Amino acid sequence: MVETKCEVCGAETECVAVCGAFGAITYSCCLKCLASGKEPYRLMVDYIANAGHWPEDINVYYQEEVRQQLRLHNVPEEVFKFEVDRAIAEEQAFIQEMCTGKVELADIMEDEF
Ligand SMILES: [Zn+2]
Repeated sequence: MVETKCEVCGAETECVAVCGAFGAITYSCCLKCLASGKEPYRLMVDYIANAGHWPEDINVYYQEEVRQQLRLHNVPEEVFKFEVDRAIAEEQAFIQEMCTGKVELADIMEDEF
């Protein structure tokens, strides 16, 4: 265990690396969040947004998993739906900018590294 930031609750404390249910991803998690089964909310929004609109495009297994997480995070399903739709819209706007040449992949790589 190392002292680092929990990606679920943001606490600076001892964390472990956990494999997420939402995509092939690991994240830092404090023992309190690990015990509760909470996953990082933002990762879940992005993962579902990559699959499609909530809930009609999401398979039943993930619907159950998401609803469980929403209860843990105390987030209403309507709010989650709104945030997934917004993430999809942002992604589409970004792809459109890439296709029209307003944004170059090289520019993004420079920003992030
Ligand atoms: Zn935590």
